[in-house]
Amino acid sequence: MQNYYLCPFCNSHLKVGEFIIFATRTSDNNRGLLMLHPEIGNYTSVKHPSYKFKKGDSLSFCCPLCHGCLDSDIDKNLIQILMIDKSGKEHQIFFSRIAGEHSSFNVSEDSIMSAGEHSSRYTYFKFPDKYKKYARRKSKTKF
Ligand SMILES: [Zn+2]
Repeated sequence: MQNYYLCPFCNSHLKVGEFIIFATRTSDNNRGLLMLHPEIGNYTSVKHPSYKFKKGDSLSFCCPLCHGCLDSDIDKNLIQILMIDKSGKEHQIFFSRIAGEHSSFNVSEDSIMSAGEHSSRYTYFKFPDKYKKYARRKSKTKF
């Protein structure tokens, strides 16, 4: 079994082949599918060449199936999805919605991993006592 990457709202699989797929929207309302590499710290992405956005643009990330917005409650610039690892343990995966900003986090109830040269912008994750309550699954009742 490989790691599963799931929408926290509808539990649909977001990873197809080698990438996690999102329905995204730029700040000026262009829409496009964006595929991100699942490995924390790997910022390879794939999109259609006609879908353009600038570095620094704040993108909306939604589930392509239920259209739930994947915004994190922790920080307005972070997106959050659920990952189930090979042993069945839940992780919360966070990454920046800002194009070109490299910040990602993998939080489970007993570990926290950060990657990317901009991850220190999110000082929230420097407080190990506090992150644990956010390791739980996002509420489904929000939608
Ligand atoms: Zn969904």
